[in-house]
Order: sequence, then structure tokens, then C-alpha cells
Amino acid sequence: MARRILVLPGDYIGPEIMAEAVKVLEAVNDRFDLGLSLEQGLLGGDAIDAEGTPLPEATLAAARAADAILLGAVGGPKWDSVERHLRPERGLLGLRKELELFGNLRPALLYPQLAEASSLKAELVAGLDILIVRELTGGIYFGEPRGIRTLENGEREGFNTYVYRESEIRRIGHLAFRLAQQRGGRLCSVDKSNVLEVTVLWREIMEELGKEYPDVELSHMYVDNAAMQLVRAPKQFDVLVTGNMFGDILSDAAAMLTGSIGMLPSASLDKDGRGMYEPCHGSAPDIAGQGIANPLATILSVAMMLRYSLAEPAAAEAIEQAVSRVLDQGLRTADIATAGQLAVSTAEMGAAVLAALDA
Ligand code: NAD
Repeated sequence: MARRILVLPGDYIGPEIMAEAVKVLEAVNDRFDLGLSLEQGLLGGDAIDAEGTPLPEATLAAARAADAILLGAVGGPKWDSVERHLRPERGLLGLRKELELFGNLRPALLYPQLAEASSLKAELVAGLDILIVRELTGGIYFGEPRGIRTLENGEREGFNTYVYRESEIRRIGHLAFRLAQQRGGRLCSVDKSNVLEVTVLWREIMEELGKEYPDVELSHMYVDNAAMQLVRAPKQFDVLVTGNMFGDILSDAAAMLTGSIGMLPSASLDKDGRGMYEPCHGSAPDIAGQGIANPLATILSVAMMLRYSLAEPAAAEAIEQAVSRVLDQGLRTADIATAGQLAVSTAEMGAAVLAALDA
């Protein structure tokens, strides 16, 4: 039976970058005889326009039936004034929650060809290859109670709840340990256990799990130190595991080490390895419609999908090598071009990756 891939292009640059990624996916589907069947769906702003809701029932049903989901990006100023519960981001958060995509994998990998594009000195980042594993469906972003209330003296107070259950910590921990086993064998758990009880429990459980993975070297770091170390000496890390909010912030900082957010893929996995794959960046309304967005993060998300949800490492590697070859040839979209380099368009970059697949 054909394996089903749900493609959700999304908003603004979403459809532009997705068009290139789909061409690459179709090419490897043929070449490696993967037996994938692709279908398209609506999510975010385009779904609000067409269906009045950011996560239509049809999309949710197709997502549940799919073996993997490929997403462009959602949101943008067009929907800034819609009610909070109908915002495009709600569609994405809803999908993550409904499918229990609790494990967010964000690699920060610096292609040596792009070392000059990083904001850090080339020698600090050349060859950088780290993986941030972020818990995605719990923690302070979802904890209840939450809200803004008025106190007796008339002053308003905002409040959120930072909460993690043992089972939530365990499942993200297991995922991170297994990923560390497949990589360099080192796992750094990031917390704030000197201040926050939630992360005292987090650290305790990571220690406990560590005994089940004697081949993985476990260390712990406070989040403030981790932020500092990421910009001071990022190559010291292999895999980092952390909660939702710390991971949100650290993974964006790690993204910038690589020069452009337009290069970075991501995966969000459930307990069985099914997942949603998307670039780390958003819908980039400022450059939409100009044909200049970098499609490589989305193309590399296809590679991650092939590796982590479809168990097709050879096809994944073929895509990653094609991307590397294209960078070797000197092709750059505007976001990764350095002074004096001529930038290519989204479509030209996509076509070059397709051609490099044949090389
Ligand atoms: P953004 O990532 O869309 O853009 C940040 C900057 O990076 C912009 O200058 C943009 O032009 C540039 N950029 C992003 N992707 C690029 C690419 N592929 N090629 C070249 N340049 C690229 O973040 P933002 O501006 O804060 O958010 C814009 C919209 O995207 C918002 O509505 C936000 O809510 C949404 N968003 C969606 C997701 C998602 O769908 N997962 C993630 C983040 C933000």
C-alpha cells in the first residue's frame, strides 16, 4: 500500500518553497521507488480564508491518516486582526497537540561552504552539527491555569503555569537518548533546577533514564549557561534536550549560528516516529511573492522526513548531498549570499537541487 504524505503549503512564502520541495520529493519517490502518494491540504491562514477555521476537520483527518506531514509555514499580517482562537498559529498548535507531536528535533548544521554567513567567527562554527530536542506539547506554553486577572486593588496580573508530568519528561528523554545513540553519544539536558521545581524533577528523571543508556554520556546545564555556551563554543554540544520554552529560545539562537534560518529543517515526532516536517522559519511576509525565499530548509525537511518517519536513509542522504553539491557550485539565495555574490531565485535553487540529484 502506498504511504501517504500530507503536504500543507500554508501562507505567504509557504507555497513558494513547498513547490520546490515537492518537486524534489517526487523525484526521489521515482528514483528510489519509495511508493509515496502525496495529497495537499489547508492549514493556517489559507484554511481560515477557505473554511473559516485554521485547522479544518478534513485537514485533521488527512493528517491522522498520513504517514508523515510536510508543512511550509503559516501566519502573517493578513490574519493579525482575527480572534485569538482563530489565528493561523492555532492551526499549527492544534495539529501538534492532536497528533501528540511531543518531540521537536531541530538540527543546527553548518555547511562548511556557508561558514562565512554565520554571525560568529568561521572557526567557531565551521563543521557545527548539533541537534536540539525540544519538548513541544507541554510546559509553560500549555500549562493551566493561565490568564490575566484583576487583583482586589485593581492592578492587573498575568499568570501562566509551568508544569511537566513525569511521563512527559520520560518520553522526551527516551527520544533524546535514542537520538544521541545514533549520533555522537553525548546528551546535554538543559534546565533551571536551581530555581524551578519543575526542572528539579526533569533533572532527576534524566538521571534515572541515563542508567538505561550507559553508552550515552549525560550532562546537565542551566539554561542561562547553555545560552552563553551556544554562542561561545557551540561545537562542544552533540544533542541537547530541554523543555518547550527553553527549547524555543535556544533553538532560534542555534539557528543563527548557521547563518540563515532559511537553511534549517525541523521535525516533530509522536511516540511511534510519525511526524510533521517543516522549515524552522516562518512565512516571511516581507519577502513573499518575490520569488527570492530560500527553499533549502523545506527541501532538507523532506530529507529528515525520509530518515525519521519513512526509514529511507539512502533517499535522505541523496537530497542532503544534492544540497551540498549546489552550495559547492556557489549557488546562493539572497539570505545566504555574502557581499558580491549573485543571488539566485527560489525556483533556480530548487531546479539546481533537482539537477544535482542526477549528478
Ligand atoms: P520569519 O521566520 O517568517 O521571518 C524572519 C526573517 O527571516 C524575515 O526577514 C524573513 O524574510 C527571513 N526568512 C524567513 N524564512 C526565509 C527563507 N526561507 N528565505 C529567506 N529569508 C527568510 O519570522 P517572522 O517574521 O517573525 O514571522 C512571520 C510570520 O510567520 C508570523 O505570522 C509568524 O507567526 C509566522 N511563523 C510561522 C511559523 C511556522 O509556521 N512554523 C514559525 C515562525 C513564525
